[in-house]
Amino acid sequence: GLPAAPPPVLGKRRVTRQLGVGTVGVGSDFPVSVQSMTTTVTADVNATLQQIAELTATGCDIVRVACPSQDDADALPQIARKSKIPVIADIHFQPKYVFAAIEAGCAAVRVNPGNIKKFDDKVKEIARAAKDHGTPIRIGVNAGSLDARLMAKHGKATPEALVESALWEAELFAEHDFHDLKISVKHNDPVVMVRAYELLAESCDYPLHLGVTEAGPAFQGTIKSAVAFGALLRQGIGDTIRVSLSAPPMEEVKVGTQILQSLNLRPRKLEIVSCPSCGRAQVDVYKLADQVTAGLEGMEVPLRVAVMGCVVNGPGEAREADLGVASGNGKGQIFVKGKVIKTVPESKIVETLIEEAMRLAEEAGPQ
Ligand code: SF4
Repeated sequence: GLPAAPPPVLGKRRVTRQLGVGTVGVGSDFPVSVQSMTTTVTADVNATLQQIAELTATGCDIVRVACPSQDDADALPQIARKSKIPVIADIHFQPKYVFAAIEAGCAAVRVNPGNIKKFDDKVKEIARAAKDHGTPIRIGVNAGSLDARLMAKHGKATPEALVESALWEAELFAEHDFHDLKISVKHNDPVVMVRAYELLAESCDYPLHLGVTEAGPAFQGTIKSAVAFGALLRQGIGDTIRVSLSAPPMEEVKVGTQILQSLNLRPRKLEIVSCPSCGRAQVDVYKLADQVTAGLEGMEVPLRVAVMGCVVNGPGEAREADLGVASGNGKGQIFVKGKVIKTVPESKIVETLIEEAMRLAEEAGPQ
């Protein structure tokens, strides 16, 4: 038959220059990628590589490592060589580590011009080294470390101030004929952050890395990031994303991936369509949904599983999904591809759904 039409997306992608961050293409010709950052001491090579492996298994596309000391810089060559995903070195304060990271073979280097002293004077040398090694640079402006000159001019980290800082530095690189840049203008307030990226998107064609910085603990940070990224990605703005959470980095990757999947910017995998339950529910929907989600975690095959509490919307949703259950009277009607295949007692609902999901995954073959 005909290949299935691609799923609809909300906005046309903003056209950008293209970069290669190691093996990952970044820019409008490529899918939006998910980044995170390790929390280990970078100099502890084994621990860092172990966490990178966990991040890779969770679906992280690009990983960033901090480099606050010479020991960390010394660890970069081994980490860059052994990681299965591209490694970006994150440099603040000390320009010498920028050169170390480039020479270590890092896939890219993030610099924060706001807190590197006399950064402007270093741009020429950085541009030359980066060009020699084919290393892209991210200009990462943060509200919390905005260039003192712009702070003086704008009074605070307004969207205009963040953008002016980023474009100023990008212009210095451009003067040295260096254009392999990616830019971020992070702020902890999603409203300021969205406005900053909108302004930036209008003013340049560099790929953009999205982030709500210091977004907070998992619940708040997830919401702030999802709302802000959604507002931007809806306009086609954003080429890489990082969800910053005060939580293990694997959680950041899960949230980032889910944001992209929700917007059809990457194929949906496991999707649970479960009802909120209400006074009509004839089964404990929360428990059922949690158990099914846990039982199917890590499923690589796209699968919509409906978990519904009663017959009001149950059969309808269950029929539309690949797999579903509509509960009632202590029983669950199990649907596969729109048809009731059996009715099982409530205690067997979870295991039956998981069994059927595995069968469907096997039929679908390796993805
Ligand atoms: Fe309530 Fe039934 Fe709808 Fe679930 S499916 S929310 S239990 S009416």
